Amino acid sequence: MTITDPLNRVHTNPVTLGRSRERIGLITEAARRAGSYVAGAAHRPVFPSADAVAGLDVFRRPLQDDPIPAREVLAELDTFGSPATTVLNDGRYFGFVTGGTDLAAGAAAILAGAWDQNAGGMSPVTSVLDEVACGWVIDALGLPSTAVASFNAGATVANLTGIIAARDALYARQGWDVARDGLAGAPALRIVVGEEVHASALKALRLAGFGESQIERVPTDAAGAIRADAFPADTDDRTLVLLQAGNVNTGASDPFEEIIPGVRERGGWVHVDGAFGLWAAASPRLRHQVAGVELADSWATDGHKWLNVPYDSGIVIVREPEDLTRAMAGDAPYLRGAASAPMYKGIQISQRARAIDAWAMLASHGRHGLAQLVERACDLAGRFAGALQAGGATVLAPVSLNQVLVQFGDEDTTAAVIAAIERDGTCWAGTTVWKGRRAMRVSVSDVATTADDVDASAAAMLRCWEAVRA
Ligand SMILES: *Cc1c(COP(=O)(O)O)cnc(C)c1O
Repeated sequence: MTITDPLNRVHTNPVTLGRSRERIGLITEAARRAGSYVAGAAHRPVFPSADAVAGLDVFRRPLQDDPIPAREVLAELDTFGSPATTVLNDGRYFGFVTGGTDLAAGAAAILAGAWDQNAGGMSPVTSVLDEVACGWVIDALGLPSTAVASFNAGATVANLTGIIAARDALYARQGWDVARDGLAGAPALRIVVGEEVHASALKALRLAGFGESQIERVPTDAAGAIRADAFPADTDDRTLVLLQAGNVNTGASDPFEEIIPGVRERGGWVHVDGAFGLWAAASPRLRHQVAGVELADSWATDGHKWLNVPYDSGIVIVREPEDLTRAMAGDAPYLRGAASAPMYKGIQISQRARAIDAWAMLASHGRHGLAQLVERACDLAGRFAGALQAGGATVLAPVSLNQVLVQFGDEDTTAAVIAAIERDGTCWAGTTVWKGRRAMRVSVSDVATTADDVDASAAAMLRCWEAVRA
């Protein structure tokens, strides 16, 4: 079979060419505008100016009666929308561990937008890319090769999916069929989490039917990891344990090797929230930080954080495929997906083909490139901490992964410096509270970030601190 680059395709059919001429023109224009947006990123403040935000008022108008040409709609979006974006993918955004957009993934998403495939199970190309990308993610993270993975909207949905799979599996072991008998009247499950459990996991527990009074919290250590010596030794086959790979403040992971085997021997289920921290497993140098994570029953992680694929990308992985498909079953005669189709592995039926971006990213970087991406972020976080400390700031926790917690003098000064940094526009980092102390949280997660970005950003932060003090 000869493969020709589709760019060399010759379009000669006047009928189809005529029909798609307008669409081709507009997609090309959109790509041109996207390119010019990216080209301008370095010259814009990372957080938009007050004027740019005020400009958004043009969008606040009643829906008019008559159509507006698509080209004008696009122009309006670019003119008023682009300046009011936060610059997430130019290397100087350090908020929320969210990362930027990898080159290949971002480009693939543009092509995939033109494809407009419904990835629930109705598209041959996305079915294959889903199968391949899921396998690569499991492989890159060192998880069991027999596990099943599924893309979804983000780690919150991945947590929810994993927790529902866990719930239904634990009930099945009790002889209780959730699909048939629901949850009302079901025997209680015991839920064990760490004191530093992420808000997303708590939300997922609530959505899965578990309330605050059912949740037991285990004390954590100075870095925010569960203390193995404080973990209950009497968990049973009705116990769901939520552990964490990567504390949002410190990057610390729970002691998986010490906790997971006992919980599973006693018949319980361990789910790991590894929204960003699980990617440490992709690096031979950092893997020890999540040692034993592969022993769990299910895992949640994000594509749109450290993997640097566009938003709306989470991944759930479940050790025993039937535990996921039992919980996510739902069929109709007109649905004709293969048994492994995404719609039978997650909450959604129709869905965006998220696997395309992840496939492109992984294909482009390869195993070593992925490891280097993770390691570079950690090295740069260390560089950040060093520069800020050299300038007199206090780093509140050891930098083991990609997170840096910083205080500039007292709490009020720290808050004022964070606000000044946002106005300054060189970079952006958010606020957090760590062990009762307000701090700035710097997450190095963007594939685009360089040592120069870190040096310029640290210098800008120290400059803002000086201005606040003056
Ligand atoms: C970001 C994060 C989440 C939530 O992920 P979303 O993709 O925003 O839904 C959950 N857990 C941890 C540890 C996180 O860092």
